[in-house]
Amino acid sequence: MNTQEYIAMEEQYGAHNYHPLDVVVTKAEGVWVWDAEGNKYLDCLSAYSALNQGHVHPRIVEALVEQAKKVTLTSRAFRNDQLPLFYKELSEMTGYDMSLPMNSGAEAVETALKLARKWAYRVKGVPRHHAEIIVCAGNFHGRTISIITFSTEPLYRDDFGPFTPGFKIIEYGNAKAIEDAITPNTAAVMVEPIQGEGGVIVPPAGYLKAVRELCTKNNVLFIADEIQTGLGRTGKLFAMEHEGVRADVVIIGKALAGGFYPVSAVLADKPIMGLFQPGEHGSTFGGNPLGAAVARAALAVIRDEDLVARSAELGNYFMEQLAEIPSPHVKEVRGKGLLIGVELKPEAGGARRFCEAMKAQGILCKETHDNVIRFAPPLVIPKETIDWALPSIRETLNMA
Ligand SMILES: *Cc1c(COP(=O)(O)O)cnc(C)c1O
Repeated sequence: MNTQEYIAMEEQYGAHNYHPLDVVVTKAEGVWVWDAEGNKYLDCLSAYSALNQGHVHPRIVEALVEQAKKVTLTSRAFRNDQLPLFYKELSEMTGYDMSLPMNSGAEAVETALKLARKWAYRVKGVPRHHAEIIVCAGNFHGRTISIITFSTEPLYRDDFGPFTPGFKIIEYGNAKAIEDAITPNTAAVMVEPIQGEGGVIVPPAGYLKAVRELCTKNNVLFIADEIQTGLGRTGKLFAMEHEGVRADVVIIGKALAGGFYPVSAVLADKPIMGLFQPGEHGSTFGGNPLGAAVARAALAVIRDEDLVARSAELGNYFMEQLAEIPSPHVKEVRGKGLLIGVELKPEAGGARRFCEAMKAQGILCKETHDNVIRFAPPLVIPKETIDWALPSIRETLNMA
């Protein structure tokens, strides 16, 4: 079948809840993908940062295949021999005492919200079912009904109410707004250290530090959603480390299993994570031995290939080079590590057409919101490959 046939079939039989670029990927390796006609492209999206380790990483393939031959699923009704090692290695790498594994990012966000509510009732003493959680405008935390309750993107929420009570939305990047929103019933403040889906929005310097201080001062949990920014993407293991802060609860997913498998997790220390009692929360597939084995290998790749440092170094280089491109369309280049957003001027006609043009040059990017092109290649990208891409990017950013 060719590209057009695949697309026609997908449009006929599949729900139209996405608007993908018309490239049908049939094969991938490292930073490269190939379409149905054998054309080769540089992947500059990395599945929204789920592929930090690069496509089809051999070490993770091996872990997947070996574990798949042994045991794939036990459910948590029984124990398995991969989960304890996953817990321990994750704790050693992140510095949090304990974790709770789920599958999708949205499930881990829901888990963190439940944990914060439980903490509010059992530790802080908030009257039951009155806990409030503060979130930020422009956020992206996933697609469940509770999570879209506090989205400010009309497309994500408007046809899907009624919604879940207990959330307060305030301006992102404004610490004073948090201070004003906190009440004695506030359980947590949940923020993305950089808003990825929101358009690679980097908050003002000192913001995360201020969030940390306000949370500590008011006995409120600081929840960092590091699903997209975590695990090396921004040049630190966690993006919050750019301001030297440690959240009480951290949510990770995406690159946690290197693009092979949906594995997410919530991290916290024992006084918080220890609150969950048997039966209060769970997932049939969460913590399964196949996912745990894959995630262990994915974490080992981040560590052994020094991907955090690579991201910092190559991200700086890539961002500098992008910022030097003279272009009538570009308003701003921003980001941290290899999470880079190029914001176009409103009159540029939208980021989509630039992504289409780059695809024709062998570079796959995706617009986020209308005016931002995100450049977030796998962290294994060689410098020469960035140099290969720059002339095409320069040409595209100068098209009429
Ligand atoms: C992708 C993402 C999620 C949701 O993850 P899913 O696996 O798609 O459910 C949540 N938060 C952030 C910051 C994300 O980037």
